[in-house]
Amino acid sequence: MSTTTQILPTATALPEKVALITGAARGIGAAIAVRLARDGITVALADIRLAAVEQLAEEIRQSGGRAVAFGVDLAGADDIAALEVSVRATLGQIDILVNNAGIIQPKGFADSTVEEWDRLMAVNLRAVFLLCRAALPELRRRHGAIINIASTAGIRAQADNGPYCVAKSGVIMLTQALAQELLADGVRVNCVCPGAVDTPLMKEYVHARGMPESLDELAGTGMLLPPEDVASVVAFLAGDGSRSVTGHITVVDRGALIAG
Ligand code: NAD
Repeated sequence: MSTTTQILPTATALPEKVALITGAARGIGAAIAVRLARDGITVALADIRLAAVEQLAEEIRQSGGRAVAFGVDLAGADDIAALEVSVRATLGQIDILVNNAGIIQPKGFADSTVEEWDRLMAVNLRAVFLLCRAALPELRRRHGAIINIASTAGIRAQADNGPYCVAKSGVIMLTQALAQELLADGVRVNCVCPGAVDTPLMKEYVHARGMPESLDELAGTGMLLPPEDVASVVAFLAGDGSRSVTGHITVVDRGALIAG
Protein backbone atom coordinates (compact mmCIF):
# COMPACT_ATOMS: atom_id res chain seq x y z
CA MET A 1 0.00 0.00 0.00
CA SER A 2 1.27 3.49 -0.79
CA THR A 3 1.78 6.07 1.94
CA THR A 4 -1.15 8.07 0.51
CA THR A 5 -3.55 5.40 1.76
CA GLN A 6 -2.24 5.65 5.35
CA ILE A 7 -5.21 5.96 7.73
CA LEU A 8 -5.22 7.26 11.31
CA PRO A 9 -5.82 4.59 13.95
CA THR A 10 -9.49 4.09 14.87
CA ALA A 11 -8.75 5.32 18.41
CA THR A 12 -8.44 8.89 17.07
CA ALA A 13 -11.60 8.64 14.95
CA LEU A 14 -14.00 11.58 14.81
CA PRO A 15 -17.77 11.24 15.47
CA GLU A 16 -19.51 8.32 13.80
CA LYS A 17 -20.62 9.14 10.30
CA VAL A 18 -21.21 6.99 7.24
CA ALA A 19 -20.44 8.17 3.71
CA LEU A 20 -21.61 6.41 0.55
CA ILE A 21 -19.23 7.12 -2.32
CA THR A 22 -19.97 5.99 -5.87
CA GLY A 23 -17.21 5.23 -8.37
CA ALA A 24 -14.85 4.57 -5.45
CA ALA A 25 -12.71 1.88 -7.09
CA ARG A 26 -10.18 4.29 -8.58
CA GLY A 27 -9.38 7.88 -9.49
CA ILE A 28 -11.16 10.70 -7.68
CA GLY A 29 -13.62 8.37 -5.93
CA ALA A 30 -10.82 6.28 -4.41
CA ALA A 31 -9.06 9.44 -3.20
CA ILE A 32 -12.31 10.66 -1.61
CA ALA A 33 -12.78 7.28 0.09
CA VAL A 34 -9.28 7.31 1.56
CA ARG A 35 -9.58 10.92 2.69
CA LEU A 36 -12.97 10.49 4.39
CA ALA A 37 -11.81 7.26 6.04
CA ARG A 38 -8.76 9.09 7.33
CA ASP A 39 -11.12 11.74 8.76
CA GLY A 40 -12.78 8.99 10.82
CA ILE A 41 -15.82 8.46 8.60
CA THR A 42 -17.05 4.94 7.82
CA VAL A 43 -17.00 4.63 4.04
CA ALA A 44 -19.32 2.58 1.82
CA LEU A 45 -17.47 2.13 -1.47
CA ALA A 46 -19.77 1.47 -4.44
CA ASP A 47 -18.56 0.64 -7.92
CA ILE A 48 -19.20 -1.53 -10.96
CA ARG A 49 -15.59 -2.81 -10.50
CA LEU A 50 -16.35 -4.96 -7.48
CA ALA A 51 -12.92 -6.62 -7.13
CA ALA A 52 -11.13 -3.28 -7.18
CA VAL A 53 -13.45 -1.69 -4.67
CA GLU A 54 -13.16 -4.72 -2.38
CA GLN A 55 -9.39 -4.41 -2.51
CA LEU A 56 -9.48 -0.71 -1.59
CA ALA A 57 -11.91 -1.40 1.27
CA GLU A 58 -9.50 -4.05 2.56
CA GLU A 59 -6.55 -1.61 2.36
CA ILE A 60 -8.52 0.99 4.31
CA ARG A 61 -9.50 -1.54 6.98
CA GLN A 62 -5.89 -2.74 7.29
CA SER A 63 -4.86 0.87 7.86
CA GLY A 64 -7.29 1.27 10.74
CA GLY A 65 -10.23 2.77 8.85
CA ARG A 66 -13.76 1.44 8.42
CA ALA A 67 -14.83 0.50 4.89
CA VAL A 68 -17.28 -1.84 3.15
CA ALA A 69 -17.44 -2.52 -0.60
CA PHE A 70 -20.66 -2.72 -2.64
CA GLY A 71 -21.03 -3.77 -6.29
CA VAL A 72 -23.47 -1.68 -8.36
CA ASP A 73 -24.19 -0.73 -11.94
CA LEU A 74 -25.46 2.82 -11.64
CA ALA A 75 -27.05 2.59 -15.09
CA GLY A 76 -29.72 0.38 -13.52
CA ALA A 77 -32.52 1.96 -11.48
CA ASP A 78 -33.16 -1.25 -9.51
CA ASP A 79 -29.44 -1.58 -8.70
CA ILE A 80 -29.42 1.94 -7.29
CA ALA A 81 -32.42 1.34 -5.03
CA ALA A 82 -30.86 -1.94 -3.83
CA LEU A 83 -27.53 -0.21 -3.11
CA GLU A 84 -29.15 2.34 -0.80
CA VAL A 85 -31.01 -0.40 1.08
CA SER A 86 -27.84 -2.55 1.39
CA VAL A 87 -25.71 0.28 2.74
CA ARG A 88 -28.29 1.13 5.42
CA ALA A 89 -28.77 -2.55 6.27
CA THR A 90 -25.01 -3.08 6.58
CA LEU A 91 -23.88 0.16 8.22
CA GLY A 92 -27.08 1.38 9.88
CA GLN A 93 -27.12 4.91 8.50
CA ILE A 94 -26.06 7.25 5.68
CA ASP A 95 -24.90 10.77 6.58
CA ILE A 96 -22.99 11.74 3.45
CA LEU A 97 -23.67 10.84 -0.17
CA VAL A 98 -20.94 11.49 -2.73
CA ASN A 99 -22.18 11.03 -6.29
CA ASN A 100 -18.81 10.68 -7.98
CA ALA A 101 -19.06 7.87 -10.56
CA GLY A 102 -18.94 9.01 -14.15
CA ILE A 103 -18.00 7.93 -17.65
CA ILE A 104 -16.75 9.85 -20.63
CA GLN A 105 -17.41 9.42 -24.35
CA PRO A 106 -15.17 11.84 -26.19
CA LYS A 107 -17.57 12.43 -29.06
CA GLY A 108 -19.59 15.35 -30.32
CA PHE A 109 -23.34 15.29 -30.91
CA ALA A 110 -22.98 14.42 -34.61
CA ASP A 111 -21.13 11.16 -33.89
CA SER A 112 -23.03 10.03 -30.79
CA THR A 113 -25.52 7.17 -31.07
CA VAL A 114 -28.77 7.00 -29.10
CA GLU A 115 -27.29 4.13 -27.06
CA GLU A 116 -24.16 6.16 -26.18
CA TRP A 117 -26.27 9.19 -25.22
CA ASP A 118 -28.57 7.07 -23.06
CA ARG A 119 -25.69 5.31 -21.25
CA LEU A 120 -23.86 8.59 -20.62
CA MET A 121 -26.99 10.26 -19.25
CA ALA A 122 -27.93 7.18 -17.19
CA VAL A 123 -24.58 6.97 -15.38
CA ASN A 124 -23.61 10.65 -15.22
CA LEU A 125 -26.99 12.30 -14.56
CA ARG A 126 -29.95 9.95 -13.99
CA ALA A 127 -28.02 7.94 -11.36
CA VAL A 128 -27.39 11.13 -9.39
CA PHE A 129 -31.13 11.86 -9.33
CA LEU A 130 -32.04 8.26 -8.46
CA LEU A 131 -29.50 7.83 -5.67
CA CYS A 132 -30.32 11.24 -4.14
CA ARG A 133 -34.03 10.33 -4.24
CA ALA A 134 -33.43 6.89 -2.72
CA ALA A 135 -31.27 8.28 0.10
CA LEU A 136 -33.43 11.32 0.89
CA PRO A 137 -35.51 9.85 3.74
CA GLU A 138 -32.30 8.72 5.46
CA LEU A 139 -30.44 11.99 4.75
CA ARG A 140 -33.39 13.98 6.13
CA ARG A 141 -33.33 11.82 9.26
CA ARG A 142 -29.57 12.36 9.69
CA HIS A 143 -29.50 16.02 8.50
CA GLY A 144 -26.95 14.80 6.02
CA ALA A 145 -24.99 16.20 3.10
CA ILE A 146 -24.84 15.43 -0.61
CA ILE A 147 -21.79 16.22 -2.70
CA ASN A 148 -22.07 15.79 -6.46
CA ILE A 149 -18.99 15.62 -8.69
CA ALA A 150 -19.71 17.54 -11.90
CA SER A 151 -16.95 19.10 -14.06
CA THR A 152 -15.76 22.41 -15.46
CA ALA A 153 -17.06 20.83 -18.70
CA GLY A 154 -20.52 21.51 -17.25
CA ILE A 155 -19.71 25.23 -17.11
CA ARG A 156 -17.73 25.80 -20.31
CA ALA A 157 -18.51 23.77 -23.44
CA GLN A 158 -15.82 21.52 -24.90
CA ALA A 159 -15.62 20.65 -28.58
CA ASP A 160 -16.12 16.92 -29.33
CA ASN A 161 -17.42 16.27 -25.81
CA GLY A 162 -20.89 17.83 -26.01
CA PRO A 163 -23.06 15.10 -24.44
CA TYR A 164 -20.70 14.88 -21.42
CA CYS A 165 -20.91 18.68 -21.02
CA VAL A 166 -24.73 18.47 -21.08
CA ALA A 167 -24.78 15.74 -18.41
CA LYS A 168 -22.39 17.65 -16.13
CA SER A 169 -24.34 20.87 -16.61
CA GLY A 170 -27.38 18.88 -15.53
CA VAL A 171 -25.58 17.76 -12.36
CA ILE A 172 -24.85 21.40 -11.52
CA MET A 173 -28.50 22.42 -11.91
CA LEU A 174 -29.67 19.30 -10.05
CA THR A 175 -27.42 20.38 -7.16
CA GLN A 176 -28.85 23.90 -7.01
CA ALA A 177 -32.50 22.86 -7.43
CA LEU A 178 -32.23 20.02 -4.89
CA ALA A 179 -30.44 22.28 -2.41
CA GLN A 180 -33.41 24.67 -2.66
CA GLU A 181 -35.90 21.82 -2.31
CA LEU A 182 -34.16 20.59 0.87
CA LEU A 183 -33.47 23.93 2.59
CA ALA A 184 -36.11 23.33 5.25
CA ASP A 185 -34.91 19.75 5.85
CA GLY A 186 -31.38 20.61 6.90
CA VAL A 187 -29.88 18.52 4.09
CA ARG A 188 -27.07 20.35 2.31
CA VAL A 189 -26.40 19.74 -1.38
CA ASN A 190 -23.17 20.96 -2.97
CA CYS A 191 -21.23 20.31 -6.13
CA VAL A 192 -17.55 20.11 -7.03
CA CYS A 193 -16.39 20.87 -10.56
CA PRO A 194 -12.87 19.55 -11.14
CA GLY A 195 -10.70 20.67 -14.02
CA ALA A 196 -8.16 18.16 -15.40
CA VAL A 197 -7.37 15.47 -12.81
CA ASP A 198 -4.77 12.72 -13.12
CA THR A 199 -7.00 9.60 -13.21
CA PRO A 200 -7.61 6.57 -15.46
CA LEU A 201 -10.62 8.39 -16.97
CA MET A 202 -8.42 11.32 -17.99
CA LYS A 203 -5.87 8.92 -19.54
CA GLU A 204 -8.65 7.16 -21.48
CA TYR A 205 -9.94 10.53 -22.68
CA VAL A 206 -6.63 11.74 -24.11
CA HIS A 207 -5.92 8.33 -25.68
CA ALA A 208 -9.36 8.22 -27.33
CA ARG A 209 -8.68 11.65 -28.80
CA GLY A 210 -5.27 10.45 -30.04
CA MET A 211 -3.36 12.97 -27.92
CA PRO A 212 -1.64 11.01 -25.12
CA GLU A 213 1.23 13.52 -25.14
CA SER A 214 -1.18 16.27 -24.08
CA LEU A 215 -1.30 14.73 -20.61
CA ASP A 216 2.47 15.24 -20.16
CA GLU A 217 2.14 18.79 -21.46
CA LEU A 218 -0.67 19.46 -19.01
CA ALA A 219 1.34 17.94 -16.17
CA GLY A 220 4.28 20.13 -17.19
CA THR A 221 2.17 23.29 -16.77
CA GLY A 222 1.07 22.17 -13.31
CA MET A 223 -2.59 22.13 -14.40
CA LEU A 224 -3.09 18.38 -13.98
CA LEU A 225 -4.48 17.99 -10.46
CA PRO A 226 -3.84 15.07 -8.14
CA PRO A 227 -7.18 13.44 -7.15
CA GLU A 228 -6.38 14.25 -3.51
CA ASP A 229 -6.94 17.97 -4.27
CA VAL A 230 -10.56 17.19 -5.19
CA ALA A 231 -10.92 14.87 -2.19
CA SER A 232 -9.88 17.57 0.29
CA VAL A 233 -12.62 19.89 -1.01
CA VAL A 234 -15.17 17.07 -0.75
CA ALA A 235 -14.00 16.46 2.84
CA PHE A 236 -14.66 20.13 3.64
CA LEU A 237 -18.14 20.02 2.08
CA ALA A 238 -18.90 16.80 3.98
CA GLY A 239 -17.86 18.20 7.34
CA ASP A 240 -19.35 20.57 9.90
CA GLY A 241 -16.96 23.32 8.82
CA SER A 242 -19.25 23.86 5.82
CA ARG A 243 -22.53 23.64 7.76
CA SER A 244 -23.69 27.00 6.31
CA VAL A 245 -22.81 26.07 2.72
CA THR A 246 -25.48 24.66 0.42
CA GLY A 247 -26.34 24.96 -3.27
CA HIS A 248 -22.72 25.91 -3.89
CA ILE A 249 -20.68 25.05 -6.99
CA THR A 250 -16.97 24.75 -6.15
CA VAL A 251 -14.54 24.83 -9.06
CA VAL A 252 -11.29 22.95 -8.34
CA ASP A 253 -9.04 23.58 -11.34
CA ARG A 254 -6.08 25.76 -10.29
CA GLY A 255 -7.72 28.64 -12.12
CA ALA A 256 -7.96 27.01 -15.56
CA LEU A 257 -11.52 28.24 -16.07
CA ILE A 258 -10.81 31.87 -15.24
CA ALA A 259 -7.56 31.78 -17.21
CA GLY A 260 -9.72 31.14 -20.33
P1 NAD B 1 -12.37 7.07 -13.30
O1 NAD B 1 -12.84 6.44 -14.58
O2 NAD B 1 -10.94 7.04 -12.99
O3 NAD B 1 -13.23 6.49 -12.10
C1 NAD B 1 -14.64 6.44 -12.20
C2 NAD B 1 -15.17 5.30 -11.40
O4 NAD B 1 -16.59 5.19 -11.66
C3 NAD B 1 -14.54 3.95 -11.79
O5 NAD B 1 -14.12 3.26 -10.65
C4 NAD B 1 -15.67 3.22 -12.50
O6 NAD B 1 -15.61 1.83 -12.36
C5 NAD B 1 -16.91 3.82 -11.85
N1 NAD B 1 -18.09 3.64 -12.70
C6 NAD B 1 -18.19 3.93 -14.01
N2 NAD B 1 -19.40 3.55 -14.48
C7 NAD B 1 -20.06 3.01 -13.42
C8 NAD B 1 -21.34 2.42 -13.29
N3 NAD B 1 -22.18 2.28 -14.32
N4 NAD B 1 -21.72 1.97 -12.08
C9 NAD B 1 -20.87 2.08 -11.01
N5 NAD B 1 -19.64 2.61 -11.09
C10 NAD B 1 -19.23 3.08 -12.29
O7 NAD B 1 -12.88 8.59 -13.35
P2 NAD B 1 -12.42 9.89 -12.49
O8 NAD B 1 -11.57 10.71 -13.35
O9 NAD B 1 -11.99 9.49 -11.15
O10 NAD B 1 -13.82 10.64 -12.43
C11 NAD B 1 -14.65 10.68 -11.27
C12 NAD B 1 -15.70 11.74 -11.50
O11 NAD B 1 -15.05 13.01 -11.69
C13 NAD B 1 -16.55 11.51 -12.74
O12 NAD B 1 -17.87 11.90 -12.49
C14 NAD B 1 -15.92 12.43 -13.76
O13 NAD B 1 -16.82 12.79 -14.77
C15 NAD B 1 -15.51 13.59 -12.89
N6 NAD B 1 -14.46 14.44 -13.45
C16 NAD B 1 -13.23 13.93 -13.74
C17 NAD B 1 -12.26 14.77 -14.25
C18 NAD B 1 -10.86 14.29 -14.59
O14 NAD B 1 -10.09 15.07 -15.18
N7 NAD B 1 -10.48 13.06 -14.26
C19 NAD B 1 -12.53 16.12 -14.46
C20 NAD B 1 -13.79 16.60 -14.13
C21 NAD B 1 -14.74 15.75 -13.62
